Order: sequence, then structure tokens, then C-alpha cells
Amino acid sequence: MAQRPYIVGNWKMHGTRAMLSEARAIDRAAERLLKVEVAIAPPFTLIHASRKEASLIGIGAQDCHAAEGGAHTGDISAAMLKDSGAGFVIVGHSERRADHGETDAAVKAKAEAALAAGLSVIVCVGETEAQRDSGEAESVVASQLQGSLPRGEGVADRITVAYEPVWAIGTGRTPTIEDIATMHRSIRARLGEAYGETGAQVRILYGGSVKPENASEILATEEVGGALVGGASLTAESFVGIIVAA
Ligand code: PGA
Repeated sequence: MAQRPYIVGNWKMHGTRAMLSEARAIDRAAERLLKVEVAIAPPFTLIHASRKEASLIGIGAQDCHAAEGGAHTGDISAAMLKDSGAGFVIVGHSERRADHGETDAAVKAKAEAALAAGLSVIVCVGETEAQRDSGEAESVVASQLQGSLPRGEGVADRITVAYEPVWAIGTGRTPTIEDIATMHRSIRARLGEAYGETGAQVRILYGGSVKPENASEILATEEVGGALVGGASLTAESFVGIIVAA
């Protein structure tokens, strides 16, 4: 059965309570567009309020700590996210890998903690421009998947992979449709190795400069199951434009 496209907004470090009106507007649009599964990942401080404002869309977080709790000043556990109303968490975003030195092993530990807490997980992977230029994009992404994906029975049901080329994030640049298709096929093959038959159900999102103008072409690409959207998810107007395109 074909799955609904999954469109996820990553608000990054944007948003005060004034932005809850955008969450409400996105929720109202999602109510009309039931063929698309819609979610947003606001900053931690808005998760609870977003859950109350928006009843239909998924609400998630952008990171979690791998530990269940304890002496980790400034960190947030997966169980806390669940308690505040989150249904999923993004792990391994390239900004966290780069800014916080997160390794594949750290990303995997976070994903496992999230699953244990009852959350779904979006695992992000993607190559840098230098890696693409030197022909290593597929091998880099394969190795990130190998190191970052949690394993085990039933896990594939609660995992989504987001392919986000680092050089396409926030730059207005995107890979060619052919390059996106090639990478998504390669990721699908790796998911088969990781999860067997159930790997076929895992949605693979594309992320990196998705906007209303390019969304329909990208989303129509083979093996693209949705989009992880940064900048264009910050206003309901542009985010709904992408949802409509899906
Ligand atoms: P962008 O970000 O849509 O602003 O390029 C995507 C992401 O980082 O998830």
C-alpha cells in the first residue's frame, strides 16, 4: 500500500510563543489535506504548547539525550519529550553532527533511547559538498546509516530516514532529481540490509532547500517519501505550499 507523503517542518532555533499561530494555521491546512501526513519539530520550549494548539499534525523534537535522566545540565531526555507531547524526534541532523560533534554512535544511542521512550525517530544522513565532489556521497551516507540506525524487531515501523546533503541545507541549492533518485535508491538498499523485508516500509525523506516551487518535482521522485523542511517551514504560507505540492 502506498504510504502518504510525510512532510516535516524543522523549525531549528526559531520560534517564540508568537509562532504558535503558524502551528495553528498549519494544523488547519492539514485538516483539509488528509492525503499528506504533516508534522513540525519546534524548539523544545514550544512542544507542549504546539501540541495543545495543533491537534492533527505530528509534533516532535529536534534532538534528545541518550540517557534516561540524570546529571546532564541543559539536556532533555526522550521520556521528557514524550511527556511534553512529542511523538517523534529528529536525530543526527547535520547541524548537530557539526556543531556538537555528534558521531554515528551517539546518533544511534539517541535513536535507541527515543524508541525505548515510545517515540518515532527521524534519522538524518547526508554528505558534504567535498564528499560529493570526490564521488564519495553514497559511501558516506551508507556508512552513516550503518553506524546510526537502531536495529531490532519492529524498529523499522518507527524509523524514518532523512537524506539531507549538507551543502543543500539553507543554501537554495538542491541536487539534481537524478542524484536524489540515485541516493534514495541506495538508501533503500541499505535499509533492506538493516531491516530485511520491513526495510521497504521505511520512508525516506529528502531535505535541503525544499520550497513550494521545487516540492512537487522532488516529491514525485522515485523513493522520495516526503520532505524535511527547514526555512520554508517557518511560515504557514510557505509550508502549506509544500504540503499542497505533495
Ligand atoms: P532547509 O533546511 O530547508 O532550510 O534547507 C532543511 C533542514 O536542515 O532540515
